[in-house]
This record gives sequence, C-alpha cells and structure tokens, in this order.
Amino acid sequence: MKIYKAAIIGLGPSGLAVNKILYGDSHNEIIAFESGDINKRDNIFGFWLVDWMKPFEKIIEKKWYKWTIGNKNTNVTHTSLDKPYCVISFKTWKKFCLETKNKLEIINKQVVQYLPEQNFFKIITADDKIYYAENIYDSRSAKEKKGELLQHFFGINVTVEDNTFNENKLTLMHFTEENNVLHFIYILPFSHNKALVESTVFSKDVFHSSWYREKINDYLKKNNINKFKEESSEKGVIPMFFAGEKRSVNSNIFNIGIRGGACKPSTGYAFSFLIKQIQLLKNSKKNYVNTHNFLERKMDKVFINFLKNNREDGRSFIKLASNLNGNEFQSFMMGESNLITKLKIINSMPKLPFIKELFK
Ligand SMILES: Cc1cc2nc3c(=O)[nH]c(=O)nc-3n(C[C@H](O)[C@H](O)[C@H](O)COP(=O)(O)OP(=O)(O)OC[C@H]3O[C@@H](n4cnc5c(N)ncnc54)[C@H](O)[C@@H]3O)c2cc1C
Repeated sequence: MKIYKAAIIGLGPSGLAVNKILYGDSHNEIIAFESGDINKRDNIFGFWLVDWMKPFEKIIEKKWYKWTIGNKNTNVTHTSLDKPYCVISFKTWKKFCLETKNKLEIINKQVVQYLPEQNFFKIITADDKIYYAENIYDSRSAKEKKGELLQHFFGINVTVEDNTFNENKLTLMHFTEENNVLHFIYILPFSHNKALVESTVFSKDVFHSSWYREKINDYLKKNNINKFKEESSEKGVIPMFFAGEKRSVNSNIFNIGIRGGACKPSTGYAFSFLIKQIQLLKNSKKNYVNTHNFLERKMDKVFINFLKNNREDGRSFIKLASNLNGNEFQSFMMGESNLITKLKIINSMPKLPFIKELFK
C-alpha cells in the first residue's frame, strides 16, 4: 500500500500553488486528482503587484500602470507606478507550478470521498479506486448559493484593426445602464490590436452567453469597433459571498483556494489571495489561515449587503474611485488599505444605506 505525502484535490490555481509553494523544493511524492481537463483551461488572472506577488514577477504576461473606471458620462483614470495591474494566464501558472523537484502524480479522476484511517487518509474516486495520503489539500468549492450575489462574466479575445486600443491603459470597469443588474465592461488591451473584452454582471442569476455577447457588441459598436475577429472566449462565475468551508477539525485536512476563503467576495478577486493563502500556510503550523483580516471581511460584508439590497448602477464605484488615488485604490482592492484610505472609502459611499447595512 503506497501512502503519498499529500493528496491535492483539484488542480486549479490553488492546487497547483500547493504543489509549487509547499512541496516544490522537496522530494516528496504527491498525488493530485482533477476531474476536469486542465489542459483545455486557459484564462487570464488579474491582480495588482503587491509584495507577496513579487516572487512571480517573471511570469507576469503584461503590466498596466494606468486604469480607468467610469460610465458614458465620467471616466476616472488612476496611475500607480510601483503597483501596476498585472496578468498571469492559467497556462503559464500551470507550467510554472508543475516545474518542481517533487514527484507529482496526476490522476484524472473525481474524488468522491476521503476518510481518516490511522495517521493517513483513504481517498475514494468515482471509479471506486482507493488511494492513500498523509495530508489532504481540498479545493472543491460551491460557486453558487441560492439567494446570494454572484459575479458572472463572459469575455472574448479579439483581434481588431491596427492602433485601435491604447495598450498602456486598461478599462477596469466601464458601467452601462441595465435593468435591475449591475453591469460593466472590462478590457485588457494586450496590444494596439488585441484585447480581452469582457462583460461582467453582479446579480443572483447567471445569464446565457448571448446576453453578455450582446453587451460586448454594443460596447464595441459605440466605440466604432465594427470589425473584429474572435480568437477565443472565457467565462466564469465567482461567489460574492463567503464561500469558505469551516476549518477542518482534522489538522491534516487543508481547505484551499476559494474553498479555504481566499476569494474577496466584494470584488471577485481570488487569484493573488489564494497564493497569499498558500504562502501563509507554508509559514504556519495551522491547517487554516485568514487570508483577509477581520476589518476587511467586515467591510466586504457591508458592501455586499449594500449591493444586494440597493439598486446600484456603478455610480458608487465611480465616486469611490474619484476619491482615491491609484495607490489607495489598489490597496483597497488588494485588502491592504490603511485607516485613512478606509475612512475615505466609507466617506465615498451613500451614507444612509451603508449605516443600515452596518447594523444588520
Ligand atoms: C474565467 C475566470 C477568470 C477569473 N479571473 C480572475 C482574475 O482576473 N483575478 C482574480 O483574482 N480572480 C479571477 N478569477 C477567480 C479565481 O481566481 C478563480 O476562480 C480560481 O480558479 C479559483 O481557484 P481555486 O483553485 O480555488 O478553484 P478552481 O479553479 O475552481 O479549482 C478547483 C479544481 O478542482 C476540480 N475539482 C472539483 N471537484 C473535484 C473532485 N471531486 N475531484 C477532483 N477534482 C475536482 C475542478 O475541476 C477544478 O479544476 C477568475 C475565475 C474564472 C473562472
């Protein structure tokens, strides 16, 4: 009977990070289970270049020092020279995390259950096969929950005529007026003629891809981009609720990634946070770490409840952006804002609805 040092359940970004960050320099034998086909997965992860992401600077695909937040009437431009907005693709992250000294065996199967047995775990897969490991890193997570807000999106990578995009400035949020939902267009201009154009919605239900396509087409048309070639597409659903599982009572079970509470629910950003989570786990003797501190979690909760219970068309976000400079804004998005920035954020928000949510 072979007992692996660790079993990773799910080879999304967090499972991959466990292989690289926790075991990459060891000679341990690790087993990973993945029910999907990660070779078909390719999407882009955005984040601001905070200190804990600097070790990965060499695999960053593009950096932008300027970004805009606005709607048809207003546009706020932020600049940050030391904390640019960056992207890493899933394919690059996967390659980076699989280049390690340890021995990783990848099993393309669904895990149905694991049970403690003596000082290791018995892992059962959908085909009733059994594997054994000393530690479990579990990244399976519920992305949707009845009655809770979701961030859902669909994006297309387009090639357009030369000099169409300003490749030095990304559109973080361009809000459009929609009935009953908050919607914005997100554009990552990789070059003057190539970009990812994404339609993002905050609401309780996910839409058919034709809905987002229509919004992307409308936006491109309004910006006189009438001819484009679609190269590829990506879509996703990110929980806007605290999707973390409770800390396991078994100290050898680690909930990781979104399942371990890495997602910042008010923004849907999770990639850089799940890396922070695995880095914190490396330096901790516990099986659970708080990726987001108490105050950040509290502010997120108030903000999400505000979005759930009020009609918001993006104007609060634009006001917030206009009251902060680029560095303050990125510190808020990355959960690193200081007290003065926090007070500026609170001051930017509609007072009465926020006070109501605070005391709920
Ligand atoms: C298209 C897309 C774009 C995103 N863009 C950004 C971004 O720009 N910035 C950002 O910060 N965040 C972004 N996110 C959010 C977040 O970073 C991702 O959702 C990220 O993939 C979460 O990683 P994870 O490892 O927690 O979970 P997942 O990526 O969901 O990985 C879990 C893995 O487990 C596998 N699995 C599930 N059940 C089983 C089972 N029973 N047995 C075996 N395997 C199983 C799944 O197939 C999956 O591969 C994006 C998400 C998506 C979907």
